[in-house]
Amino acid sequence: TTLSAQTLGSLDPRVAVPSYDRAAVRPGIVHFGVGAFHRSHEAMFVDRLLAAGAGEWGIVGVGTLASDAAMRDALSAQDELYTLVTTAPDGVVEARVVGSIIRYLLAPEQPDAVLAALRDPATRIVSLTITEGGYGINDATGEFEPRDAATLADLDGLAGGAAPQSALGFVVAGLRERRDAGAVPFTVMSCDNIQGNGHVARAAVLAFAERVEPSLAEWIASAVGFPNSMVDRITPVTTDASRQRVADEFGIEDRWPVLSESFVQWVLEDSFTAGRPAFEEVGVQVVSDVEPYELMKLRLLNASHQAMSYLGLLSGAEYVHEVCRDQLFADFLLGYMHDEARPTLAPVPGVDLDEYSAELMRRFGSEAIKDTLMRQIVDGSDRIPKFLLPVVRAQLASGGEIDRSVLVLAAWSRFLEGVADDGSALSPVDKRLDELRVAVAGEADAPGSFLDYAPVFGDLGSNARLRTAFVEARALLAARGARGALEALAAH
Ligand code: NAD
Repeated sequence: TTLSAQTLGSLDPRVAVPSYDRAAVRPGIVHFGVGAFHRSHEAMFVDRLLAAGAGEWGIVGVGTLASDAAMRDALSAQDELYTLVTTAPDGVVEARVVGSIIRYLLAPEQPDAVLAALRDPATRIVSLTITEGGYGINDATGEFEPRDAATLADLDGLAGGAAPQSALGFVVAGLRERRDAGAVPFTVMSCDNIQGNGHVARAAVLAFAERVEPSLAEWIASAVGFPNSMVDRITPVTTDASRQRVADEFGIEDRWPVLSESFVQWVLEDSFTAGRPAFEEVGVQVVSDVEPYELMKLRLLNASHQAMSYLGLLSGAEYVHEVCRDQLFADFLLGYMHDEARPTLAPVPGVDLDEYSAELMRRFGSEAIKDTLMRQIVDGSDRIPKFLLPVVRAQLASGGEIDRSVLVLAAWSRFLEGVADDGSALSPVDKRLDELRVAVAGEADAPGSFLDYAPVFGDLGSNARLRTAFVEARALLAARGARGALEALAAH
């Protein structure tokens, strides 16, 4: 059956469909960046809200990139409906058609419609999953240094009254109209996987507005809420195989379904300036401080992806579940979590960290998710400093264990050299690849000098204990390969 509003009633009864009248849903949220993750996460929570009767919180999706035409075409062919298929670690599969996106606007073709949606007083939240690049914040300095052409064009164009092109440009233009109309501004809610995502969104919007009109920045600073959040649901890229699976298992022809794990988490700070739906009634944890949850996720989940991927790829593995079902790797990861990451975390309200770690291993071990190790290593030079180095830094300061973290750093450096343990070629993907390769080539003459690469290691590279351990770990990997190194570590 081809998915559409007409065919909802005739789908396989195992597929849950919207129980509410979609025609009666009104828009309350404008969302920039309708990708895989938005559709497995926020849109799913909003679908639950709509089913619970909160019909004023429908989503207007917006794409600002030319490449978003593909999503517009897919969704418009099926009345903005799509299938979300989740798989639990025990193999239980659930499918539902999500109905919360009620319109999709492709900004390059209809900028005025996007501005109208932002102007509409019914729009009380503007949410974002525009990836880190969408904010233009240099994460080393915290400065606003946009590089993409659309944002740069908007910085010039907006002051002169041109239509925006970038997500930030639309947000600032929308807020300017609210202020000029004397209206209440919408809340800007980032759902990107960035530490302090609300702070980052606020810094970007304020810096952008400052360049357009300083008094606008002042007004935004005092009037607009930018809640922080921690978001979690592993959602791989949709492939033809995923489309085929939805057709074979559920009989649904969906142009762009989403397949994700069953686990989902959203910890959201309660700072909304124009009201919010009762998120806490549909499974969102609404809290006053998100930071302990973020650190837990960054240092246990995200850092573990780093910890498994370089070693796993060196050893010839391809998938996350493959390495996590291997006792040697599983023990290594749990050891990292328990002995290296956990000592750096403050207590997390309401969370048992042993249980969280055990659940992570079950999630990682889930075969159906087919998450690749290669997906975890894209731009490792961004990920290592955010996920793993804070653990190393804290453990060095307290004299705690660092052996496993250092083996990961050494494995990363070996991975960058591009040769797996069996001699086959590996293909690192990193925006700093050229520089990283130069840095790692220096190891031949000056062991440990890779750690002098300041954009990643900062001042950490000069730490003598780290340096000695790194040189030893690289030698161990060279002599025994990734598996051999894990065995050696397990033995002592
Ligand atoms: P995706 O490739 O499916 O979608 C990316 C989306 O981001 C697209 O809608 C695109 O239009 C938009 N985008 C990218 N660059 C942009 C820019 N410069 N300006 C405006 N929009 C831009 O990827 P995804 O899996 O949906 O991931 C998107 C974000 O979601 C990630 O960057 C991450 O912060 C967050 N996230 C993803 C996962 C996951 O498992 N996939 C988990 C947690 C959080």
